[in-house]
Amino acid sequence: MITETDLKHLRRCVELAETALEKGDEPFGSVLVSASGEVLFEDHNHNGGGDSTQHPEFAIARWAANNMPPEERSKATVYTSGEHCPMCSAAHGKVGLGKIVYASSSEQLAGWMSELGAKPGPVYSLPIGEVIRDAQVEGPVLELAEQIRKLQIRSFERKQ
Ligand SMILES: [Zn+2]
Repeated sequence: MITETDLKHLRRCVELAETALEKGDEPFGSVLVSASGEVLFEDHNHNGGGDSTQHPEFAIARWAANNMPPEERSKATVYTSGEHCPMCSAAHGKVGLGKIVYASSSEQLAGWMSELGAKPGPVYSLPIGEVIRDAQVEGPVLELAEQIRKLQIRSFERKQ
């Protein structure tokens, strides 16, 4: 179940996604929250420079590995505007982070891109649960997914 607190963090992820788009990056944003509810780290996508591995979920996994003991990582929650891609799911799983709450799913993103006639990328779109063993996952959240769809369309149109 998505709580008001979850929504607050997810709205911040959408804001970060919008910031990314404004900076010339792809519209994705993510927030790492401790078990006690403290926001520990946040980031947005930095693909604009040409490095397609600069995803915020990956940055969070690295930050967590360098700054949190394993026990704390397992109890932390990662909020994100778009469901983790397989690369970020793997990073999340490998550093032992806890729950993931996403506003829009990879399946939704693939559907939006297909409607726009976009060519699929080189990496398969897989749900988090097909990459991380025993993943704890929540999402998508309808009201926010619509905002993200609009950001993704703007991002796609800019690349044309
Ligand atoms: Zn990713």
